[in-house]
Amino acid sequence: MPALDDILREKLHALDAQHLQRHVHSTTSQAGAWVERDGVRLLSFCSNDYLGLSRHPQVIHAAEEAPRIYGTGAGASRLVSGNHPLYAPLESSLAHAKSTEAALVFGSGYLANLGTITALVGKGDLIVADRLVHACMIDGAQLSGAKLLRFAHNDLADATRILETHRAQYRHCLILTETIFSMDGDLAPLDAILALASTHDAWVLSDDAHGIPYTHASSAAPNHVQLGTLSKAIGAYGGYVCGSRTLIDYLTTTARSFIFTTGLPPATLAAAATALELIHSDEALRSRPLALAKQLTHNLGLPPAQSQIVPIIVGDSATALQAAEQLKQQHILISAIRPPTVPQGSARLRITLSAAHTDEELLQLMKALRPLVALQAN
Ligand SMILES: *Cc1c(COP(=O)(O)O)cnc(C)c1O
Repeated sequence: MPALDDILREKLHALDAQHLQRHVHSTTSQAGAWVERDGVRLLSFCSNDYLGLSRHPQVIHAAEEAPRIYGTGAGASRLVSGNHPLYAPLESSLAHAKSTEAALVFGSGYLANLGTITALVGKGDLIVADRLVHACMIDGAQLSGAKLLRFAHNDLADATRILETHRAQYRHCLILTETIFSMDGDLAPLDAILALASTHDAWVLSDDAHGIPYTHASSAAPNHVQLGTLSKAIGAYGGYVCGSRTLIDYLTTTARSFIFTTGLPPATLAAAATALELIHSDEALRSRPLALAKQLTHNLGLPPAQSQIVPIIVGDSATALQAAEQLKQQHILISAIRPPTVPQGSARLRITLSAAHTDEELLQLMKALRPLVALQAN
């Protein structure tokens, strides 16, 4: 009988042969958008810390102060004794940012999706999901036991066809989408999706993990559940859901990934609350990542950026890895994104712009990417 390791080694070899084995690399974040890896300094265009707030002095100060009062760990689930006083002001700021009655902070964006989807729908219900939604929405959908059907990316005609054909056979229906798609950087037609949902007696869960708070006007539709993360533009860690008071009360009582896990560390919540205040008060900070992305796409002759995420699709995984390696030689860090994170044949360089990038650094990026994009065009 082969030992566990023998079987796993064989599976790893197979993945490696397809350029699909993944590795973690120790990476030290430094000032601005720079990182150090293997003793080499690299200019990073692959962080989701879109506003550079994880290194903001006021955010760091808040994170240092909180444990002096509340300790380093929450010690228990929020429903037991882990609900320290930092939660209430953060949740009310999040609700304010999304124009909703209430908000609930989860351990991460992943946990927020898992807990919310499984709390809202189950066996006998229908989930209609955009083809490109994040893996954690799909995991939540599968765990829920609801029937999962997927529509072509941002294709409302396809979503309509699915709803017209299938909606009537199920009790509740939940539509899943992202506000800004994580690997493509394009936006969902959210208003049209909310209208479609109303027509078909469906609810919408939109994941704003890549949104920058206060950049898009949020309106609270009664069938809309707004979800996001504290781990990206907010520069800390955690996830959240915003909606009606009733929705939040219901999730507090039923979302298993909220109930059966320890509350977040006080330092993390203090950092998130401070970051959110900074975002609220600084319009120039909020708008810089998209402005940089638009300059980049204009300069390279790519379709205009809709968000701070700019993909350059190269096709196969080996080419994507090779391109990322070439950029690294020029001290630029961009990750190659491969299947199954993105569909087969659409391996890409995923470039993220941050308020932490200087104008000179943007020029450096343009210069390094130009030969690559020229190659693509031929
Ligand atoms: C990153 C991401 C998540 C997960 O959020 P975490 O806080 O990192 O767990 C969820 N949804 C989308 C679309 C994401 O990009």
